[in-house]
Amino acid sequence: MFKEYEVWFVTGAQLLYGGDAVKAVDAHSNEMVEGLNRSGRLPVKVVYKGTVNSSKEVTATFKAANSDGKCIGVITWMHTFSPAKMWIHGLQELRKPLCHFHTQFNKEIPWETMDMDFMNLNQSAHGDREFGHIVARMHKPRKLVVGHWQDAAAQDRIAVWMRVAAAWADAQDMLIIRFGDQMNNVAVTDGDKVDAEIKLGYHVDYCPIAILAAYQNDVTEADIDRLVETYGKEYAVAPDDWKNAHFVGQVRNAARTEIALRRLLNDKGAKAFTTNFDDLEGIDQLPGLASQRLMAEGYGFGAEGDWKTAALYRTMWFMGQGLPNGCSFLEDYTLNFDGEKSAILQAHMLEVCPLIAAQQPRLEVHPLGIGGKNDPARLVFTSKEGEGVAATIVDVGDRFRMIVNKVDCIKSKSLPKLPVASALWIPRPNFEVGAGAWILAGGTHHSSFSYDLTTEYLEDYAEIAGIELLVIDEDTTLSGFKKELRTNDVYYKIMGN
Ligand code: MN
Repeated sequence: MFKEYEVWFVTGAQLLYGGDAVKAVDAHSNEMVEGLNRSGRLPVKVVYKGTVNSSKEVTATFKAANSDGKCIGVITWMHTFSPAKMWIHGLQELRKPLCHFHTQFNKEIPWETMDMDFMNLNQSAHGDREFGHIVARMHKPRKLVVGHWQDAAAQDRIAVWMRVAAAWADAQDMLIIRFGDQMNNVAVTDGDKVDAEIKLGYHVDYCPIAILAAYQNDVTEADIDRLVETYGKEYAVAPDDWKNAHFVGQVRNAARTEIALRRLLNDKGAKAFTTNFDDLEGIDQLPGLASQRLMAEGYGFGAEGDWKTAALYRTMWFMGQGLPNGCSFLEDYTLNFDGEKSAILQAHMLEVCPLIAAQQPRLEVHPLGIGGKNDPARLVFTSKEGEGVAATIVDVGDRFRMIVNKVDCIKSKSLPKLPVASALWIPRPNFEVGAGAWILAGGTHHSSFSYDLTTEYLEDYAEIAGIELLVIDEDTTLSGFKKELRTNDVYYKIMGN
């Protein structure tokens, strides 16, 4: 889906240096943009939108970026010195994500040949600082990438921002469907849906579960046959289970709900949904298998009405498209105290995404012991080992706060008496500080987890959204984190949000 989008590259200069300089700036910019596109490291195409030499040109270009449906963000670079007052009106207009690229056309100083003509042209060392000043003074959110345009490290940082900008664009017309409300009395998964639409772009709608039940009536036995055949190809099933009428019946009921749910979401143009196990009238079983499979397709999911996590999952899935290791909705399930290896088992009643599975998922049917419905089908697996990030957004009353924790997934053990999918992770810097900081920040027991994303992605997201960000990683200490929480409270009281 990155192919639908483009990022604009806008070069800053001024007309002080004459026509030859203008031509050279243009030629260099073209060469750089072609080089960036040819690097193979950028998921979104870069389109050179010319050099801007005046306030009028900046404003016209940024207004065009705002109204162009394909443009998900703007990269700026100052080839010559570009007096920054000329950027003020344009920056006031710009509503697309901004990436300031502090780079230079030439890589090394041409010591022997450099003359004043060269210096009149190649001025990004000071030009980008002049531009940086006005962006800083105007408190304009932006990503700053510093490095030579041919260096992989700089290109990779632009690639991160591109994935985030694309996910941001995706979220601006995201519809989240909620079947039922929040689980009664739960605080952390609730929040201000009006403010979420203003700040984060997405829209949350309620849908009676009866509508889903009605969709189920239109699912034919042949539809179910086809989907159950797909299950048989994709998942491991104990051989005897296919002869077990109870297993087959429950799997078929699960398939009926999955087909109905996918059709309903498709008809509404929804990109995410939430369920509530207390609100399943007309549905045979908790739609665990459906939720697992729809998450793998990129639909956002949150359990118990958790629409913020549903939206964040969709956004993190979108950022990570094409990357190898996957993402999932997860819940802090139970703790394992084991000294330095103390870890948190991550699972849910059923709804864990198979994209994070270390082995082929097993399709199983078991009682749930909660909700009073029939035995649900579900995919059972343990997760891969490796580093990842868990993220959440909470509403702390006057603002949204994003909390991100670097975690290390370690080998999980099978749970013969608890047949659910799971991951087992140690939060960084360790269980005591990682879990402690998350709790001090008021973080959810639900999170959106990814192996492929790093804290940089979530930092870019929070910057674009203009929301508070707290990162818990190897450098976190509880005393430092408490100070950050207090400082942020003061900052947002003064700055507003
Ligand atoms: Mn839950």
